[in-house]
Amino acid sequence: MLRLDGRVDVGVVGSGGVYAETREVSALLDWTREVLAPYGFTPDLSLPLVSVCRDELMFAFIDTVTSHWGHCFDLSSLAGLPLLGRTGLAAALGHAPDAGGRHRLVVLAFPHIGVDGDGRMGMVHRRGVPGVTTACGAVHIARQALVYGVSGVVLDPHDVEESLLVQRLRRVLGDGVVPDLPQVTEIVRRSAVEEMRLLLSGLATPELPVDFALFSGIVVHAGETDRVTLDSADVTVDGRQIDLLARARPDSS
Ligand SMILES: [Zn+2]
Repeated sequence: MLRLDGRVDVGVVGSGGVYAETREVSALLDWTREVLAPYGFTPDLSLPLVSVCRDELMFAFIDTVTSHWGHCFDLSSLAGLPLLGRTGLAAALGHAPDAGGRHRLVVLAFPHIGVDGDGRMGMVHRRGVPGVTTACGAVHIARQALVYGVSGVVLDPHDVEESLLVQRLRRVLGDGVVPDLPQVTEIVRRSAVEEMRLLLSGLATPELPVDFALFSGIVVHAGETDRVTLDSADVTVDGRQIDLLARARPDSS
């Protein structure tokens, strides 16, 4: 977990300390600009890409990214798993500013989870909706499918994103016990990072250099404002990956 030099409000949300270290989304985005500036990433010279769930709850997060980095290319699918593939990412690259031949992408992969007033994971109050609803509903349904033994092999053409989410989780979990919702959400985060890293690694050519930053964590809807964990942060410049988390830790500086 990241400590941002004690400069931001770090608070505990949820029960059992699952999300023991969270921060305001704006504080995270301030930090991304700060740590990326030395590598030439500025809003004018970079294109932000967001991989978040389609849920309307995520628009506050997207708005904050936009206010810090400009309008975002949308990688979204249910649960925040990036399913746009090489074709979609190639399109995004074509929209990135050309800075003397270099292109810079800032990728943010952030699945989400709700925590209601009683500390229940995966539940959230929505304005105008009686009671509580699930968040992330897509992860909740995929988890239930795995509990009931759905193989994930069959791709439903009328439920493509959820089918691929179940398939991905099944590939990670195999026949083992299905973990709880926060743990499944964490698998979604790792899967999103893995997929984006695979796609991004094949993007640059000698004629078209591409530098990219990749941040990931979990957006936690708890109360009026969202909070966010930061679980990975790195930047790849000229093909060399630099861990930004290690640099940010006070005890490693
Ligand atoms: Zn969702």
